[in-house]
Amino acid sequence: QPELVGDFGTLMVWADAGRRMKVRANAETPLDAQTARDFGAEGIGLCRTEHMFFDASRITAVRQMILAEDEKGRRVALDKLLPEQRKDFTAIFEVMAGLPVTIRLLDPPLHEFLPHQESEFAEVAEAAGVGIEVLKQRAAELHEFNPMLGHRGCRLGVTYPEIYEMQARAIFEAACSLEVAPVPEIMIPLVGTKRELELMKDVVDKAAEEVFAEQGKRIDYLVGTMIELPRAALMADEIAEVGSFFSFGTNDLTQTTLGVSRDDAARFLTHYVDKGIYARDPFVSLDVEGVGQLIEIAATKGKATRPDIKLGICGEHGGDPASIAFCEKVGLDYVSASPYRVPIARLAAAQAALAKK
Ligand code: PEP
Ligand code: MG
Repeated sequence: QPELVGDFGTLMVWADAGRRMKVRANAETPLDAQTARDFGAEGIGLCRTEHMFFDASRITAVRQMILAEDEKGRRVALDKLLPEQRKDFTAIFEVMAGLPVTIRLLDPPLHEFLPHQESEFAEVAEAAGVGIEVLKQRAAELHEFNPMLGHRGCRLGVTYPEIYEMQARAIFEAACSLEVAPVPEIMIPLVGTKRELELMKDVVDKAAEEVFAEQGKRIDYLVGTMIELPRAALMADEIAEVGSFFSFGTNDLTQTTLGVSRDDAARFLTHYVDKGIYARDPFVSLDVEGVGQLIEIAATKGKATRPDIKLGICGEHGGDPASIAFCEKVGLDYVSASPYRVPIARLAAAQAALAKK
């Protein structure tokens, strides 16, 4: 396990004394969560649940769920996934005992879940008890021309609420099973409107009430949203009426603000930086090119509606020192970075706080 010892450890103790913002980590496995804790993470800022779905033991059930004809078919697959998710969340809560854990409900580009090989279709056909041809036709119907702007994030939860219902149930069952109950922060992805968040929060709240009644026990939890679309940033005052926290998803927010594909930008970005079109790589630094301005607008509007709203960032920028300085400037409560960037984030957060004094 990594450890921060000697002079470096001392420096980190000084840094922690000087910083205001908390530092969390992006992690979805108990191992990554443990690494993050060893590096001083004070919680998980983003647990991407879609990563859990790719596990070889469950991808067939996931494909069965996605390719199901109707809700009944989806629920058959979801019943297989519920115990797996319960285990996933229990393990993470145990590692992070006592610290906040933000779990983001499913946000896949749908095409990543679709089967491609003949053998993959055959596995789903056997699990679901339907013919391969039916599944191939369904996969063709689900094809998207632009998956990153397509049926992902909460759009999936709006069309198939039973998926988010299963995940919320797994989170609450896991949390209730522990002696020291965590305070899960349930996060809805790719929200653009207040109504989307309202619908998804209803699904989560309903699952919570059901589990609490079954277990004869209640726990505290929060429901909040990613802010990763310009519309969400601009309408943050409305969205804050429903969500009790915002986490800035600056990977998507950069993509959608600049209209630049996060997966294809490499082909021209160096030219843009060399020729001074962008001051820096906008997928690294958010203090330039308008993304930061949207964060500032959203933070101000969110606080106007809900003064105690919790504000964080979980895009890649959360581990970038210049971006962390910007987060300090606009008053975010925490940054969340990948586990190995947690020490840098702790130092950068301290430098940013000291520079403000
Ligand atoms: C983001 O968009 O910044 C984010 C954290 O979500 P993801 O990278 O999973 O889309
Ligand atoms: Mg995103």
